[in-house]
Amino acid sequence: MVQSKEGRESALGRTRYPSALIFTGENRRELAEETARAYLCTGETPPCGVCPHCRKALEGIHPDIIHVGVPGETLKVDQIRAMRTDAYIRPNEGAFKVYIISTAETMNPSGQNALLKLLEEGPSYAAFFFPVPNSELLLPTLRSRCEMVRGTVTGGEAIPTEEARALAELLTRPFDDLELAAFCVSLEKKSREELTALLDETVEILVPRLATADGGLFSKIEALGRIRGACEYTIGSGHIAGWMMAALLPAGSGKRSGERNYVG
Ligand SMILES: [Zn+2]
Repeated sequence: MVQSKEGRESALGRTRYPSALIFTGENRRELAEETARAYLCTGETPPCGVCPHCRKALEGIHPDIIHVGVPGETLKVDQIRAMRTDAYIRPNEGAFKVYIISTAETMNPSGQNALLKLLEEGPSYAAFFFPVPNSELLLPTLRSRCEMVRGTVTGGEAIPTEEARALAELLTRPFDDLELAAFCVSLEKKSREELTALLDETVEILVPRLATADGGLFSKIEALGRIRGACEYTIGSGHIAGWMMAALLPAGSGKRSGERNYVG
């Protein structure tokens, strides 16, 4: 395993380029983009920033850097299959075809399994990058085929806030819709940045509990991941809080997303 911030250099400083990388930390997307440039760079010190590949990549028009997934949307099995078909077409210009899958944490297990096949059997020039908030959101079988590049985390070991602990606690026990509504209403005054931090912290607390929790927890964590993706759009916190309410309502409550009898 490649560790910490030296990870990027050691991952790239070798002649062997890993075919699957997980990027974590706040700068995970930037790291993934930079690493993609390094894979394709033909300069002396990749990514040199001046060779034709780097320049195209910096302009966002390199045909061999392919972004998969839309923030706020679940990555579907069909998209993975389309990526698989595309991966067997040789690179257009570079030595690699780099797929940056920015919403990998939203994949359900069948999507992750389809991806696993691609990692196992895909062509050697294909590389798959997964910038994820937390590597544990990916299945262990998938993680085991990836090398890790850990980005920066400000403030070192983050101590979860009271609210993140409260939300995590709520989601790991039976709760009713009114309790959830009260919590979601309290989020309406928050900025999107605060909501993002809260969701990240809550997921960090919940993921280690997956092993011992019932099956419902996985879908709740999945929902939190989707909501977190939505925070990157310029939509109001009130809308995000409302969506969160709908997405997390217990299945048996009879009040699901889109129904009229909606609280909050
Ligand atoms: Zn270059």
